[in-house]
Amino acid sequence: MNLLDGKLVSAKIKEDIKLEAAEFAAKSGRKPHLVAILVGNDGGSETYVASKMRNCELVGFESTNIRYDESVSEIELIAKIKEINEDATVDGLIVQLPLPKHIDPDKVTEAIDYKKDVDGFHPINLGRMQRNLPCFIPATPYGIMLMLEHYKIDTAGKKAVVIGRSNIVGSPMSILLARNSNPGNCTVTLTHSRTENLPAEVLEADIIVAAIGKKNFVTEDMVKEGAIVIDVGINRETSTETKSGFKLYGDVDFENVAAKASWITPVPGGVGLMTIVGLLKNTLEAAKGTIYS
Ligand code: NDP
Repeated sequence: MNLLDGKLVSAKIKEDIKLEAAEFAAKSGRKPHLVAILVGNDGGSETYVASKMRNCELVGFESTNIRYDESVSEIELIAKIKEINEDATVDGLIVQLPLPKHIDPDKVTEAIDYKKDVDGFHPINLGRMQRNLPCFIPATPYGIMLMLEHYKIDTAGKKAVVIGRSNIVGSPMSILLARNSNPGNCTVTLTHSRTENLPAEVLEADIIVAAIGKKNFVTEDMVKEGAIVIDVGINRETSTETKSGFKLYGDVDFENVAAKASWITPVPGGVGLMTIVGLLKNTLEAAKGTIYS
């Protein structure tokens, strides 16, 4: 078994981003700027946004975190998004999901200027991704592709099974793996909660991407010898063993699956760190205007 080491790869790519950000700042007189809007006090979301802000600083970006109380109205939130869309000092804008039930995430996503949509969730970016046109790719699938690229994993012609069809992970991941690109050129099966005999589907996979949100869902008996296993899941459980008071688990039973896999991502230390890299790369591209001028 070989580890797809998010810690190592993300650190390396962040060094490159830092150099490019410094070049951008020297030329333009300002740093790439990411704004993150956080609504409410969800523990996971707070951690993710704090980590995004911290990583922006690390690579020499400016970052702004705008916080709203859980009770903020959809109208107020969208008005703020429109204001930021018009602000020429902001390159990238993300709204941390999930949002409170009274706010429609689709309306919020579509309110963001697609040229600042560094999460890559806007239908224009998703449509352009499907067409293999320049666009912002959703950060998690983008990070996974960067990881496969780093390790020179040959994906062409392989059978990939993606578990989970969310708009932010599973669905874009299936598109990227199927695209005529490198990494890519896989034969992809996209599975979900209504898939019949899911274990049999997964057992045929050369590449497994698990994005479900269920601890240890993918077990050893579902994995073919030599498979490449990408674990997107982040399942938080309270724990007395850690300083933070919680422990993270993936969607894959790492201990037992690792013995069969040729490559596998750990949780933590895998896809999560690469997601940040995807976001940072998108923000840098937004600042440089290389995707949309
Ligand atoms: P969603 O809840 O939006 O989607 C989960 C998907 O899993 C759905 O498509 C659902 O199917 C499917 N699913 C649920 N139960 C089963 C089952 N028993 N069998 C087969 N499919 C099932 O989750 P996300 O995509 O947003 O996130 C998935 C996981 O990845 C979570 O743990 C999340 O925390 C993590 N995550 C990690 C990131 C990272 O940076 N590492 C980034 C984003 C997410 P259906 O559509 O039929 O309901």
